[in-house]
Amino acid sequence: MKPAPFHYHAPQTIEETLDLLAEFADDDGRVLAGGQSLVPTMAFRLARPKHLVDINGVKELDYIEVQNGKLCIGAGVRHAAFHQPVEDGPLGRLLSAVVRHIAHHPIRTRGTFCGSIAHADPASEWCAVAAALDAEMVAESKRSGLRVIAAKDFFQGIMTTALRDDELLSEVRLPIQQPDTHLGFAEFSRRAGDYAIAMAVGGYRLKGGMMTEIRIAVGGAEGAPRRMLAAEHLLIGRPPNAGTFQAAAHAAIKAIDPLDDENVSADYRRSIVRAMVCRALENASA
Ligand SMILES: Cc1cc2nc3c(=O)[nH]c(=O)nc-3n(C[C@H](O)[C@H](O)[C@H](O)COP(=O)(O)OP(=O)(O)OC[C@H]3O[C@@H](n4cnc5c(N)ncnc54)[C@H](O)[C@@H]3O)c2cc1C
Repeated sequence: MKPAPFHYHAPQTIEETLDLLAEFADDDGRVLAGGQSLVPTMAFRLARPKHLVDINGVKELDYIEVQNGKLCIGAGVRHAAFHQPVEDGPLGRLLSAVVRHIAHHPIRTRGTFCGSIAHADPASEWCAVAAALDAEMVAESKRSGLRVIAAKDFFQGIMTTALRDDELLSEVRLPIQQPDTHLGFAEFSRRAGDYAIAMAVGGYRLKGGMMTEIRIAVGGAEGAPRRMLAAEHLLIGRPPNAGTFQAAAHAAIKAIDPLDDENVSADYRRSIVRAMVCRALENASA
């Protein structure tokens, strides 16, 4: 099938983009970024936006830079930018480990980091990372100006976020991690490149051999990714080993309410979450 007819707009600046969104958002106008999620849904006519505001020509959105201890990722940055570490520390290494789980190489050369965050598929790897690290999302519009939204408030359910229709997600900020931070990622999907059934991000620092500043987030299992606070709490002041990791995984599966569908039952997803939380923490220790 071909997409339903639409009007195409090609702004060259953020200002023009915001003007177009202010004018057309109410008339079913949408941002077009990498098109790797939006175009297939249009081709199936599951989405029929009347206006597409294509941000691919907005060069000022294409940047990755460190500012005030945060890695700032502009809306033009493709997944493939993370194939090599974009910074020298644990955050750069985590992003490079995670990116290879996203779809396939051609999709990674078009799809954008911010597009994944805006689309908020429950099984998005970048959304899980954003939740784990308490990312900040920068939303801009003519009506509301600039809003900085914390990850815990941004992800609200399956493909549902705090972003308003006329807002551009112009930047995502990830906190740079201290050099001694241990970070790990694990996901399970049926075939390489498929959307994950579940995934986890784990992280901690060590103080006298005991864990502190613990982060555990689960993605893919529920409508939106989130930190597993009870599981994190359990690890404070304890050593990193198989026993403590399993205890955290057990706490995580008690805390989640997994999605349940004809392909993947809630029980199966829960058992995958248990394994992924353990593996993410093991990978963090490796
Ligand atoms: C075969 C296949 C496999 C895939 N597998 C995975 C996978 O394993 N993991 C994964 O995470 N993703 C996967 N994807 C999706 C891919 O990562 C997309 O790139 C991503 O979901 C959306 O990014 P995009 O830049 O392509 O956004 P688009 O498709 O252009 O847009 C998606 C939605 O977000 C909105 N949007 C995009 N950017 C902005 C912005 N800056 N501000 C406001 N709104 C915005 C659009 O209006 C639209 O509603 C897969 C895609 C395909 C086709």
